[in-house]
Amino acid sequence: MIGKHYLENPWKIIEHGWSPENVKSSESLFSIGNGAMGQRANFEEDYSGSSFQGSYIGGVYYPDKTRVGWWKNGYPEYFAKVLNAPNWIGIHIKVNGQVLDLNRCKTITNYERVLDMQAGTYSRTFRCTLQDETVLQIESLRFLSLDQINLGAIRYTVKVIQGTAALEISPYLDAGIKNQDSNWEDQFWQIDALSTEADRAFILSHTLKTKFHVCTYMETQLWSEGKLLNIPAKATEVKHKTSLTYTLPLSENNSVTLIKYGGYVSDRNYPKEHLKQQAQKELEKASEVGFDVLLEKHTNEWANIWERADIQIGGDVKAQQAIRFNIFQLNQTYTGNDAGLNIGPKGFTGEKYGGSTYWDTEAYCIPFYMATKKQEVARNLLAYRYQQLDRAIENAVKLGFTSGAALYPMVTMNGEECHNEWEITFEEIHRNGAIAFAIFNYERYTADTSYIPEMGLEVLIGISRFWAQRFNFSKDKNAYVMLGVTGPNEYENNINNNWYTNYIAQWCLEYTAKQVARIRNEFPNDYKRITAKTKIDTVEVEQWKNMASQIYFPYDDDKQVFLQQDGFLDKELTPVVDLNTRERPINQHWSWDRILRSPYIKQADVLQGFYLFENQFDMKTLERNYDFYEPLTVHESSLSPCVHSILASRLGKEEQAYAFYLRTARLDLDDYNAEVEEGLHITSMAGTWMSIVEGFAGMRIVDDQLSFRPRLPKAWDDLEFRINFRDVILSVTITHTTIAFSTKSNDPIRLMVDDVAHEIAGSSVLSI
Ligand code: BGC
Repeated sequence: MIGKHYLENPWKIIEHGWSPENVKSSESLFSIGNGAMGQRANFEEDYSGSSFQGSYIGGVYYPDKTRVGWWKNGYPEYFAKVLNAPNWIGIHIKVNGQVLDLNRCKTITNYERVLDMQAGTYSRTFRCTLQDETVLQIESLRFLSLDQINLGAIRYTVKVIQGTAALEISPYLDAGIKNQDSNWEDQFWQIDALSTEADRAFILSHTLKTKFHVCTYMETQLWSEGKLLNIPAKATEVKHKTSLTYTLPLSENNSVTLIKYGGYVSDRNYPKEHLKQQAQKELEKASEVGFDVLLEKHTNEWANIWERADIQIGGDVKAQQAIRFNIFQLNQTYTGNDAGLNIGPKGFTGEKYGGSTYWDTEAYCIPFYMATKKQEVARNLLAYRYQQLDRAIENAVKLGFTSGAALYPMVTMNGEECHNEWEITFEEIHRNGAIAFAIFNYERYTADTSYIPEMGLEVLIGISRFWAQRFNFSKDKNAYVMLGVTGPNEYENNINNNWYTNYIAQWCLEYTAKQVARIRNEFPNDYKRITAKTKIDTVEVEQWKNMASQIYFPYDDDKQVFLQQDGFLDKELTPVVDLNTRERPINQHWSWDRILRSPYIKQADVLQGFYLFENQFDMKTLERNYDFYEPLTVHESSLSPCVHSILASRLGKEEQAYAFYLRTARLDLDDYNAEVEEGLHITSMAGTWMSIVEGFAGMRIVDDQLSFRPRLPKAWDDLEFRINFRDVILSVTITHTTIAFSTKSNDPIRLMVDDVAHEIAGSSVLSI
């Protein structure tokens, strides 16, 4: 636990008591977002203590010129960074000439922050004593509307508890912001115009290079005892900041409430000439209905999300709070309503990872969105990569590949590679495999057979062409080998024959060959279009099949395990439990050289392959590989514990499965990797969902049917979740002795429980 300040509660994250050292962690944990924009939980009022300011607009980024020690051909020109956007939440407060600043107060009591995940709101209350002994009580509530996605709202109340206050309250917009993470200290934004109109203010600005135009706006109202106060605001425009100042006296026991509507509109969605007009419309709409109705509509939208996506865990508040936190943050990051957006590893909660798209989306997030939203959301995520296929081909060309071979980027914002460490950019190529696997997984789960002929096959062909050129034939081994790669375990670079990469590449070649034949037979018109475009023919497909049948896989006969790469057994295989705990995480204590030579595995690598291709191995093989690799794994990527939890469940290792579940689910809440200040681990949160649904409930698709293998952790009384399976909502409730299903579908659903077939109509309870 980060500290005793965070309380356990099934629906809320609560920080209790003021602690300046927790400010940055809490700014991450209490982040809010609505898919279109998001922000860290920065204070509205001034704060001179240590803080990490962040407010982000989906899809608005800056290409920060690459900075590396030694330039290597093939490096991308830039790293795409999600931009810290103008601040619209700020409220500057002065009382008797003193600035309200929690870092300068004499005392702070009754401090509480609450993230109400059911309602989708973030609130704060505290009582503070200023230098002149005036005591104030502050209450604020903030949300980013799911109903009106360009708009957020704040209700901020100041009450005088002791003394009298000459109060100056100045809500403002500030476009003078920077990214903490900037390669050259460049300016990312240019301000075009500031304006104020009565209680409204606007800043028009645009990003340099990418030229995204944004209007940041606000409207403010002052209320007291349920009445709108008619106090004129004094407008000030200074450089990048525009404020509206209200001045009023406040006597003991009296309060005043500021309502502030604000947000962004950008030319991603509206013509740039009309941005201010659109902002005016947003404000009119909001002020017409008022704060309470806006909040109610927002909360109703959250109720709809929870109706589909909630997971209820009986008897374990810690686990319950954690899974809801994960589901909440995933929905704050990506709602599926904008096909141009994707899921950044830190979502809208920090700058690390640039806010861009990684293989995390396909390998971890798609199963969650597929089961908790309508089918087209997952389809859009796949289509996003289809739309970027040409760029993936260009990216491969830059590295010397030809003939339509596609290498999808490790990190991207618009399809171009923008990661620049050679061992990852050029070598961590397994990402291509995850993108192909997601196409397979989508069709397997949804039974939507139209995606592959319409879009998926072209992606598969590009990816298979890449693999076909990336393998080379080794006379020595009399097999195809893949040299110079980085597997999912980034604590090894430039290795030969990473088992996972070879395996997924082989699978891609075989799967694409099958799909080419299928589309030729079943969708001749699409086939014609695709062959005309890609020039694919049977000779090429035969070459893939031939290659796939001769791929080399490192294996140890004695231990009977697959080797993560050639030579893995030359390492000193000291298990992680023997490491000095003070040296962990090793990436914060060891030199890179020492890490590379060590046997320690950052995240599931061979075991990632067992997770994706479980049905291709028997249980004994899975167990041997799990028992060999798990003790060497340090889980220093957030994406690791969930895979281990799922495999441990499959192997009946209940305690491990549960321990890994808590680690993935509470990674940020308990700050396992000592880095929550930088932002949350959004993509691994989908892994948490998988640990429950695929792990403890054992859900799979087997022979075109749902299949369950329920194994409830001892600490839980029961578990309940819902999935959208092929447009039917199925509720699943698991206890230690039963599994119950319920559906409103008129057609019975055929499914398996512990390998026994059942037909479910309405509600059924089965013993397990
Ligand atoms: C992991 C990658 C992952 C990235 C973003 C890294 O630490 O090793 O697998 O794609 O984080 O989540």
